[in-house]
Amino acid sequence: MIKLSNRLQRIADYITPGNRVADIGSDHALLPIYLLQSGKVPSAIAGELNEGPYQAARKGAADAGLQQRLEVRKGDGLSVLNGGEADSVTIAGMGGSLMSMILEAGDQAGKLQGVTELVLQPNVGEDEVRLWLLGKGWELREESILEEDGKIYEVLHARRAEYAAASNEKLYDGSFLPLEWDKSDLKGLLVRMGPHLLRKPTAVLIEKWRLEIEKLERICGQLSGSELPESALKKTQFERDIRRIEEVLGCLQTELQ
Ligand code: SAM
Repeated sequence: MIKLSNRLQRIADYITPGNRVADIGSDHALLPIYLLQSGKVPSAIAGELNEGPYQAARKGAADAGLQQRLEVRKGDGLSVLNGGEADSVTIAGMGGSLMSMILEAGDQAGKLQGVTELVLQPNVGEDEVRLWLLGKGWELREESILEEDGKIYEVLHARRAEYAAASNEKLYDGSFLPLEWDKSDLKGLLVRMGPHLLRKPTAVLIEKWRLEIEKLERICGQLSGSELPESALKKTQFERDIRRIEEVLGCLQTELQ
């Protein structure tokens, strides 16, 4: 059986056993191959836009002797899927903006019909994915953050649920943080940093946001050298952002101790 990276393994762990899976942007199809070899899922579809990865996925399926149960399809996003063909959809290893566009286009075209579970691993722009899920009434059930090979990854697990609106309202209520901010600022922060991640902070989460602060400080330093009025405005905004993140980290670090 193939061995997955910790990142892909975390995604695999979130899949409900017995579900039919569609992995969009599958590249070598490692995730569906593992899910089939481990017996966790009965069948899978691997979708790929680009010829090279599409051929790599076909070869992976053939080498593993899984052509009967792993269908490799070429196309853009969820267009490779027919409504009702999959119970779980996974999308991993691309930006949150592209991921949200794929989800939105697929949703509009009815491709998410019958899909009850999404496991999403955006490389950046996690906030865009959380906002999409929130806007479309998916319940964000779990999230995790992990570090591998010097990179930090977040994995989001969402389910379709009738009570999603109520559950999300609770989830995105930031009153568990001892911060005197207005409600919409708090919600924005939870969308950005992850409502589950903030409730169970880990050292990796703290590290991610420390690195983000360092990046923002570097940008502020560059803006200081500019005499343009808009640079001064941007710098003020970034400085406010840094203060806000630091305030949150202050609460989290207390919890970690
Ligand atoms: N999902 C694998 C993983 O996480 O290891 C592969 C990630 S790889 C970095 C991103 C893959 O998404 C590439 O193989 C790329 O060809 C594919 N891709 C990019 N845009 C896509 C789209 N609109 N529809 C389907 N696949 C896409």
